[in-house]
Amino acid sequence: MPNPLPPESPDAENAAFLRQFGRSNETTEFYSPSPEGYQSGRHKFVAVMGTVMSGLGKGIFSSSLAKLLKDKGLAVAPIKMEGYLNIDSGTLNPFRHGEVFVLDDGTECDMDLGTYERVLNQNLTRANFVTSGQIYAEILEQERRGGFLGRDVQMIPHVTGLVKLRLRHLAMTGGPGGGPADVVFIEVGGTVGDYENGFYIEALRELAFEEGPQSMCFVALTYIIEPAILGEQKSKAAQLGIKRLMETGVQPHIIACRAKNPVNDTVMQKIAMYSNVPMKRVFSMHDRESIYTIPEAMWSEGLDREILSILGLHDRVDPVHEERARRRWSEYADKIRAPRRHKVTLGITGKYTTVRDAYASIDKAIEHAATHLSADVQVKWIDTSDITQANVADRLGGNGIHGVIVPGGFGERGVEGKIACVRHAREQRIPYLGICLGFQMAVIDYARHVLKLQGANSTEFEPDCPHPVIAELPEQKKIEGLGGTMRLGAQDVLLEPDSLAWMLFEPGEQATVPQRFRHRWEVEPAYVDRLTAAGLRFSGRHPDYPIMQVLELDRSAHPYFLAAQFHPELTSRPLRPHPMFMGLVAAAIVRAEPDLAQESMPATLLRWLHTPSTDKTAPVVEPRRAVDP
Ligand code: GLN
Repeated sequence: MPNPLPPESPDAENAAFLRQFGRSNETTEFYSPSPEGYQSGRHKFVAVMGTVMSGLGKGIFSSSLAKLLKDKGLAVAPIKMEGYLNIDSGTLNPFRHGEVFVLDDGTECDMDLGTYERVLNQNLTRANFVTSGQIYAEILEQERRGGFLGRDVQMIPHVTGLVKLRLRHLAMTGGPGGGPADVVFIEVGGTVGDYENGFYIEALRELAFEEGPQSMCFVALTYIIEPAILGEQKSKAAQLGIKRLMETGVQPHIIACRAKNPVNDTVMQKIAMYSNVPMKRVFSMHDRESIYTIPEAMWSEGLDREILSILGLHDRVDPVHEERARRRWSEYADKIRAPRRHKVTLGITGKYTTVRDAYASIDKAIEHAATHLSADVQVKWIDTSDITQANVADRLGGNGIHGVIVPGGFGERGVEGKIACVRHAREQRIPYLGICLGFQMAVIDYARHVLKLQGANSTEFEPDCPHPVIAELPEQKKIEGLGGTMRLGAQDVLLEPDSLAWMLFEPGEQATVPQRFRHRWEVEPAYVDRLTAAGLRFSGRHPDYPIMQVLELDRSAHPYFLAAQFHPELTSRPLRPHPMFMGLVAAAIVRAEPDLAQESMPATLLRWLHTPSTDKTAPVVEPRRAVDP
């Protein structure tokens, strides 16, 4: 059993009262466990809850606010609390829920964790993501172990107690290097009033009371509608939403109004009046050109300072740190706003091409690289289910396309079309970036069309194909079922010197770079020698096992043909764009404007892209050896 709550509250009277919460036996109703050594009042909490509707960008709001506090030198730890019963996001369909994001420790989680990592430039762990399923699984397991001393186990106080325990644990360990966090940012999934999230809000209400004054800041993120038929903003839906929150016993400290346009004064006044929140704590959070300009907007409105006042944190601020961090970020934001010097179009093969959320990290990784290279990147999403060798040139957009990405994916649909896209990009020397499945597609294309291994395929799509160049990882074959069985999370990639990959990553003496994986299939080692002999270079491998992780073509054969078994998009950050995306966008610019001086490109990359290939007209690299086994 966790230890009782230590009564270290700043206020002695309060502390004595709080001591009761830690007890759990027949004589008391209290149950509020804390981790060993926890000090009430040391850590602060900001809880962001949505009203009116979901999809308002709670994650973006919460991460931007957390960033402003991190910039001030405070240690911050975000957490997303999901209402669904799944233990993680591993089995969720990305076209229903948005992409499955993966953390270094292999956690498969909500895409909001990607937003937190990008905005905070901070790696997260499984402690930053909780689902109802995790909480219920844990409570039932504890009950079976006899952990509740003869008590009946209830939603309140036991389930809520466990939620508080998770939050306190994160407060103690979620800061940099596993140290304490000054502020925990809690994002409650869904909207207030959802049946499945009710116990989170109840837990937060209890936590605010137990932690004492100035420990919790409740933020209600609401939405101001502006119906086209009226042509004006209406506050009623927002009022009702906030009222719903107040019915749970939570008085918001801050109201943030999402809206298409800046929220007008009348609406702000009504919101303030109906919710007991002073005007200076009601903020307009209208749409911006980029989510990365939101921190600046919040700062200029003083939202961060209000949070500091509510939580009594002014004396923990480091102004020098803040000044430096703000300057770095605003340089990036200036680049976002600056007119772009280049214009390129990238084709991305996507299964359900209308659902951008399914490829959110790729979208962001392109945005990061494009911003640094001053490129206006148009993305053309391509459904490959009816693409063939005959129509691929047309479908990709002829000369209008300057780069191709085949992203990750599962299942057979559209696979042949994707292979046709890779082949086209390879033969026509269109810059290519293959990601995970796109890496495997490149291997299949090369095996079929250069090595002439007829029927080469992945056993994911054709278990009995004549040439299984992509086969299931040996350790995966033993695992039954789908939940959490893939090769997941950060793994080292050993790079070969004098390769495109090496030049992009600049790995230094140790020659390895950590990258994030999520796959079940890999290049069948038995084919590696033949593929290599035919000109496909595996420039990144597992340091100890024959697992191929990066492939590329020689500069003489192609200006930029690169693919990774890992997911580079997951670790691209605004201030640290991923080298593979930088390379792709740079190569696309060179294809679109071959004579242009590329002042903003990294010198090494520029050198690579402008090294003339030995023969630009040669259609493909001919195989040096093409043998069937
Ligand atoms: N389906 C492939 C595999 O499991 C690729 C996975 C992916 O693209 N994430 O290996």
